[in-house]
Amino acid sequence: MHAPQFLQASKMECCHAPLVSSYNDRIRPLLDAVDKLRHLKVMQEGIQLPTIVVVGDQSSGKSSVLESLAGISLPRGQGICTRVPLIMRLQHVPNPNAEIYLDFHGKIVPTDEPCVSEAIILATDEIAGNGKGISHTPLTLVVKKNGVPDLTMVDLPGITRVPVHGQPEDIYEQISNIILEYIKPEESIILNVLSSTVDFPTCESIRMSQRVDRFGQRTLAVVTKADKAPEGLREKVTADDVNIGLGYVCVRNRIGDESYENARLEEARLFEVHPLLSKIDKSMVGIPVLAQRLVQIQATIISKCLPEIVQEIVGKLNANVSELNKLPQKLSSTAEAMIAFMRIVGLSKESLKNVLLIGEFDEYRDDEDMHGTARLAEMVSNYSEELSNRGEYMTNWSKLMASQNVFKEILAKPSISTTSTSWVNIVGFGELMFSVKILVNREMETEIVKEIMGSQGGGIERLLEESPSVAAKRDSLNKSIRLLNDSKEVVAKIVDKIATHAD
Ligand code: GDP
Ligand code: MG
Repeated sequence: MHAPQFLQASKMECCHAPLVSSYNDRIRPLLDAVDKLRHLKVMQEGIQLPTIVVVGDQSSGKSSVLESLAGISLPRGQGICTRVPLIMRLQHVPNPNAEIYLDFHGKIVPTDEPCVSEAIILATDEIAGNGKGISHTPLTLVVKKNGVPDLTMVDLPGITRVPVHGQPEDIYEQISNIILEYIKPEESIILNVLSSTVDFPTCESIRMSQRVDRFGQRTLAVVTKADKAPEGLREKVTADDVNIGLGYVCVRNRIGDESYENARLEEARLFEVHPLLSKIDKSMVGIPVLAQRLVQIQATIISKCLPEIVQEIVGKLNANVSELNKLPQKLSSTAEAMIAFMRIVGLSKESLKNVLLIGEFDEYRDDEDMHGTARLAEMVSNYSEELSNRGEYMTNWSKLMASQNVFKEILAKPSISTTSTSWVNIVGFGELMFSVKILVNREMETEIVKEIMGSQGGGIERLLEESPSVAAKRDSLNKSIRLLNDSKEVVAKIVDKIATHAD
């Protein structure tokens, strides 16, 4: 296999060429795994992936840098072009024919080099509307092409303080939020695109990245338009006024209708012959150097993050599974529902009997409301004690004992309705117990069966329906579990591969 065209185009820098390709052979499967996880949207589960994030002020040259790396045209120009996060996956393939497609809203839209720019604009309109609005929903662009470096980067909308005509008033906040969302995680590498024509400390993108990466440990600067402002550029990148930990790379992108091959040749010539630019150290100039730095940084960050990612996936998967198991069992057939229902009725009867009739409430020791009958029994016995202490009651009692026939008559009465409250409490308690027994044994059953088999029907089917909150919880847990299981499979394969590599 011949050396990638990308590296051939830069013969002057390509002494590292074999290093890049051997690096790629080992890193490529890891990058593929990370890209698969990204595609599965594992980030929705709070798992951060190592990502190279491209930030820069509007018109600093972000899209141009990505174009130079990919060797394809992206929407470029005035105002805001990038309105959604653009995930760009570059993959070197040995065959000469490029394969390019967009992946968004769950669909794949194939395209080709001449049409890619137009296709991105259409997809952006579909995601974010065809106004000037922006969206958090990413668009993925896959470029499988001979000679491109194996890199995945996210291009973000450029920062602007001043809304252009038709842009929402809070455009600055909206864009800042998207950018922060991507650059905040420690796993993100910030590729800060700065135009050599501006004063670096005044760049919004510098202020932004300093908010999350104060000392620039994960920030790499690309200085564009070297051809436009060569004066003092060497001093600017060596002084490092803005704390760029991963260093600077100065580039000259494609100008006008230049071909990508020509652009690289012009860039190489510029840094070779220009009286000022040629003084800048060769390790800090040119798109091939940038590509190589990015591939290296990507390899480092992926190797560092992957073991943690594997642990996180497994941990979250286990947590979700145990949470799902804690949810009430879901009934899936009428028969199952009937069995569960009969069990519940049986248990309820048992409980009611214990509480109401026998006065055992061990089952509900701490539940005061369940102790009603026990309290009632206590109240009645207290009352009768109180009564027996009164002269009037004793008189009545004697009278009653004297006329037992009347007493028997009263006992035979079906209800407790009578004028004399004094002894009714004693008699009534026995009768109450009897009614409760009937209530528990017969009426409760009848009522429940009426309700379940009642005129509207479908009672048992209604039991199959979960409460909306439990159903929603179960759905979201199942979704997470599926996603994490798929993710686990992706990383399991890669862990196997690493193990065989090590052998
Ligand atoms: P973005 O808004 O950050 O994506 O910036 P673009 O990539 O759209 O670039 C803004 C303008 O700067 C375009 O007209 C580019 O052609 C131009 N540009 C970008 N890089 C260079 C460069 O290295 N040299 C020159 N001369 N122009 C450049
Ligand atoms: Mg752009």
